Amino acid sequence: MAKFQRPGENRLKLLRRLAWTLGIVTLAVAALTIWVIWPGKAPVPPPLVTDQPPPWEQQGATQYMPSVDPPAAAPFTARNEACDTGAAPPGAAAINAASLTTMAWSPFGRPEVGWEIYAPRIAAEIDTACAPDTRRFAALLAQWQQSHGLKPTGVMEMGAFQPMLTRWHLQRPFVRVNNTGICPGAPPASGLSTARPNESYGGKTIQLRPGALEAYRRMVAEARTAGVIQRPETLTIFSGFREPAADAARCARDNNCQGLVRTICSAHRTGLAMDVYIATAPGFGPDSSADDNRRAMARSAVFRWMVVNARRFGFVNYAYEPWHWEWTGEPLLPGVPIKSLPQAGSAPVEPAPSSMAPPQQGTGSVVMR
Ligand SMILES: [Zn+2]
Repeated sequence: MAKFQRPGENRLKLLRRLAWTLGIVTLAVAALTIWVIWPGKAPVPPPLVTDQPPPWEQQGATQYMPSVDPPAAAPFTARNEACDTGAAPPGAAAINAASLTTMAWSPFGRPEVGWEIYAPRIAAEIDTACAPDTRRFAALLAQWQQSHGLKPTGVMEMGAFQPMLTRWHLQRPFVRVNNTGICPGAPPASGLSTARPNESYGGKTIQLRPGALEAYRRMVAEARTAGVIQRPETLTIFSGFREPAADAARCARDNNCQGLVRTICSAHRTGLAMDVYIATAPGFGPDSSADDNRRAMARSAVFRWMVVNARRFGFVNYAYEPWHWEWTGEPLLPGVPIKSLPQAGSAPVEPAPSSMAPPQQGTGSVVMR
């Protein structure tokens, strides 16, 4: 016997089914929409510190690794710039011309006079080959200030230098790792290559990680072609890998590891940092941080070339030391907390230079040699 159905019951069933279907479709569409618009994973930046075995321990790795140099940038020296033109704030170029050799300031916590030592790096930062006393330099500096939220005066002073310095520090992977409280690891002896005698300064034995030495050789070959190697010792290496234990012993002995020129966690432990002969003022060695000496370096053709070109080979510079360069082509090795290192020789003898620490970082351990 056929079931009795009340009129409208079919329509009710149909409506329910329709409601269910609509609900499911709505849910599906919502799920699909969320899946599509959900923010994708941000591109993962290359690691600062590798978890992988170091190159020399990887299977099938040859001793010499190809470098991962950053892409080439056109050297701005080749550009045709009109240095006497530009929308510079009135008087800015004249102020810069005077302050270049007279400004009293303490960019690294100790008094200095003038900013000529840093002029090549500042010029590179604002992207000009024009001299610091030109209208174009002032105009581009004003532009840089504006784009970094500063008053566009076109005048060089600490307010403009500080954010540049922070940027330069943070371009160094070693500093970025240091700022997390970690001191990168040192490679074993088997992970180092030895420079040729003619690549070392004064016949010292210089060792570096193979990739760094290869990149150095490519850079020197280009510097030679560019005509900026004017003396036999130019760009020879006077310090490469430094064994952490030996560095620690020297810190303890000399009590000189307070940070500006020496530290208990030296970049030289990585096998990626090198000190190269740039130039010297009469009476100074290639590693003297006396202002006269650093000024002589800033004026040299080779330093000006390095500031513009070294990055193409993966090298970054510590702004206080024109001779200190670090290769960035391979990750740093896993390290240890800086606090766990021997502290002998690191007690401050005077207040730590506050300008060394990037303002947004807490540790203040921005240290370099
Ligand atoms: Zn150094």
